Amino acid sequence: MRVAIIGAGLSGLACAQTLTQGGHQVSVFEKARGPGGRASRRRQNGFEFDHGAQYFTARGADFQSRVDRWAAAGVAAPWTPRIGVADERGVRDKHDHTRRWVGTPGMSTLGRDLAAGLTIHNQARIGRAHRSADEWVLHDDTGATRQGRYDALVITAPPEQAVAFLDHAPQLQARISRVAMNPCWAVMASFETPLCTDHDALFVNTGHLSWAARNNSKPGRPETECWVLHGSRDWSRAHLEAEPDWVADTLLRELAQRLEIERYATTWLAAHRWRFALADPALEAGYLVDPASRTLVCGDWCNGSRIEGAYGSGLSAARWLIDIG
Ligand SMILES: Cc1cc2nc3c(=O)[nH]c(=O)nc-3n(C[C@H](O)[C@H](O)[C@H](O)COP(=O)(O)OP(=O)(O)OC[C@H]3O[C@@H](n4cnc5c(N)ncnc54)[C@H](O)[C@@H]3O)c2cc1C
Repeated sequence: MRVAIIGAGLSGLACAQTLTQGGHQVSVFEKARGPGGRASRRRQNGFEFDHGAQYFTARGADFQSRVDRWAAAGVAAPWTPRIGVADERGVRDKHDHTRRWVGTPGMSTLGRDLAAGLTIHNQARIGRAHRSADEWVLHDDTGATRQGRYDALVITAPPEQAVAFLDHAPQLQARISRVAMNPCWAVMASFETPLCTDHDALFVNTGHLSWAARNNSKPGRPETECWVLHGSRDWSRAHLEAEPDWVADTLLRELAQRLEIERYATTWLAAHRWRFALADPALEAGYLVDPASRTLVCGDWCNGSRIEGAYGSGLSAARWLIDIG
């Protein structure tokens, strides 16, 4: 079978890898410059930030075996931050038994590892897909036809964008159009000297922030003090179109207030807007399929959210195709 996959995030890559191992011909089309999607790392002026996914957990056997292989190959390692919870009463320690993993030396290595050996067309934003004579033909966003004809199409774009590819499957389209993704503002800040706090990461349950993490407390990162802050769901949504500089200043001041830090000096500060960050709520479907047209839809938002969900969704979509192929 010849399969086209839209999106080289972890779901698309897991799907592509499984299909390739099953002997199928797979082409992945990715609008960004490289694979990985929301599991990404930003490098700027020598500073490094995981500005999307922060860490991941492994609960099911399929993903645990993938994580074991990543750990053995040095692609992932456990992260054991000192975690705090911040609310109106201040910051208190959070003790839990969650085993947290991160990509090493950054979250983007997960995608890079899964992408090895696959045919990936980067900077290829697919604008339209149409089916003629039982085959899929793709067009990029300039309208130009991409080379190749495909027996099956796998879409891993967020639901708001996936619906555009599904005019031929109205039932699937209607189901997907009910899923919404929340935005998230991510702020990246590096500092001249380490911030004065005992915690490496904070879950924030009040105010504009939802999360803050000392990126350099993760294994394999440079020692320079670098933090990633995430705006809360409601605050990010309310300020979706705000100026990035204002967002960065506002969230950084809030972190300083939560940590009761009066003086700090940043060496670099920027904000990144994730327009489609996390589903609210995610489906628990695994993946979705229109069997007649061999169109599959997968991604974290089809499968309980998060990195493990994305991986599992891509895997199960591939297995459906392998079973019918
Ligand atoms: C701020 C933030 C914090 C997070 N924190 C965590 C966390 O701590 N733990 C955790 O487990 N998960 C976290 N997540 C979620 C995690 O990042 C996702 O679950 C996972 O990376 C999703 O993978 P995916 O393949 O489903 O989607 P994506 O990674 O979004 O991949 C989809 C890909 O499709 C591409 N694409 C879209 N449309 C087109 C098109 N038309 N043509 C070509 N390519 C296209 C996109 O560029 C993208 O690369 C977080 C996400 C965000 C944004």
